Amino acid sequence: MSEIPYKIYLEENEMPKEWYNVRGDMKKKPAPLLNPGTLKPVTKEELSAVFCEELVAQELDDTTRFFEIPAEIREFYKMYRPSPLVRAYCLEKKLGTPAHIYYKFEGNNTSGSHKLNSAIAQAYYAKKQGLKGVTTETGAGQWGTALSMACSYFDLDCQVYMVKVSYEQKPFRREVMRTYGAKVTPSPSMDTEVGRKINAEFPGTTGSLGCAISEAVEAAVSQDGYRYVLGSVLSQVLLHQSVIGLETKAALDKYGIKADMIIGCAGGGSNLGGLISPFAGEILRGENNYEIIAVEPASCPSLTRGVYAYDFCDTGKVCPLAKMYTLGSGFIPSANHAGGLRYHGMSSIVSELYDQGLIKARSVEQTAVFEAAEMFARVEGILPAPESSHAIRVAIDEALKCKETGEAKNIVFGLTGTGYFDLVAYQKYNDKEMSDYIPTDEDLKKSIDLIPKVEA
Ligand SMILES: *Cc1c(COP(=O)(O)O)cnc(C)c1O
Repeated sequence: MSEIPYKIYLEENEMPKEWYNVRGDMKKKPAPLLNPGTLKPVTKEELSAVFCEELVAQELDDTTRFFEIPAEIREFYKMYRPSPLVRAYCLEKKLGTPAHIYYKFEGNNTSGSHKLNSAIAQAYYAKKQGLKGVTTETGAGQWGTALSMACSYFDLDCQVYMVKVSYEQKPFRREVMRTYGAKVTPSPSMDTEVGRKINAEFPGTTGSLGCAISEAVEAAVSQDGYRYVLGSVLSQVLLHQSVIGLETKAALDKYGIKADMIIGCAGGGSNLGGLISPFAGEILRGENNYEIIAVEPASCPSLTRGVYAYDFCDTGKVCPLAKMYTLGSGFIPSANHAGGLRYHGMSSIVSELYDQGLIKARSVEQTAVFEAAEMFARVEGILPAPESSHAIRVAIDEALKCKETGEAKNIVFGLTGTGYFDLVAYQKYNDKEMSDYIPTDEDLKKSIDLIPKVEA
């Protein structure tokens, strides 16, 4: 075997030409989305009122294994892909581990995360359908930023409802979005009926993601030529994000490296689902075995402490019901939870794979995550996003286990983004003002008890 370089790149002609839909290889499929009114599986027609047609087709297709990546999207991918697969030589040395650690770094684009992989696809299909623009919500702003970049590339109008507290406290992300031409509105706003209603009911509210989703959906259906787009959780998003896993696999194969363990952070499950898809496919087809670990915050533990049930995807209860591991759509993580990954539910694909035992899950505490982030930044150079640092934490823990057992495992993890816009959280950590909060069973029971009772 040739010496493994610090960064493994792929040539342009080695880059994926198709996305991989892991549902095509699942014998037991994820449960279908349900119409919240009729509790029947949502139809193509119902979804097409809100989402772009081609994306609806991708969402509902659980048999086609490969979807061609349109040439226009492959062109765009070339601007920042392939993303490097890095051998973490410096981290290995620091830990004194016999393990070989690799990370797939998705922060190499201006938006700073993997979200651009799906944003550009969604913008492309909206343009192809002849739409004028798209609407969406954003919390901390990563998705809004990625979508703004994608929309400006295809000359589409982009309307982002940004949770008011983030709009006010995270002016930098907001300005990046505006620079790419997006219209950013603090939510709840006075522009939509639902926004006016929430403002009247809760004067001075600083908003929530659930409320921003409701506003973005209303804005999409009430304007001609607009559709709503979403940056995680949906199966179409995992499909687009499979480019991460396909590139990772191609790069490993190029050097004859067999991954033993694949680790990713899990918020809505899109980067994890994308990273693991081709590997999970091999497990499902009985060709290979991998240990796959989803890492979530102990303060928002959907997989490790949630229930597998049909639930609302949004707090506003306007979106279809999805069967997933959930803490209940009313669950709000504690305010001192700084490090992203605050979603109450989980992608239905990741949920089903977890339920089938293909994926393991682990929850980690905030200060331990930032300790890992700090160590990683100091030896590998990259300032990681707090979300990504959940995966770093577990990769380090596993590498330290290898040190005890003497095993030279190949550990691969997803480094989803950079932490330049998370410096308030880093400041808290540096000032030793960061604390861990783990919800009690009582806390969780409150929101779990409110999950609708739907026969799964
Ligand atoms: C959004 C985001 C995540 C979590 O989203 P998933 O859909 O679970 O991948 C993780 N890391 C970064 C940097 C993000 O921006």
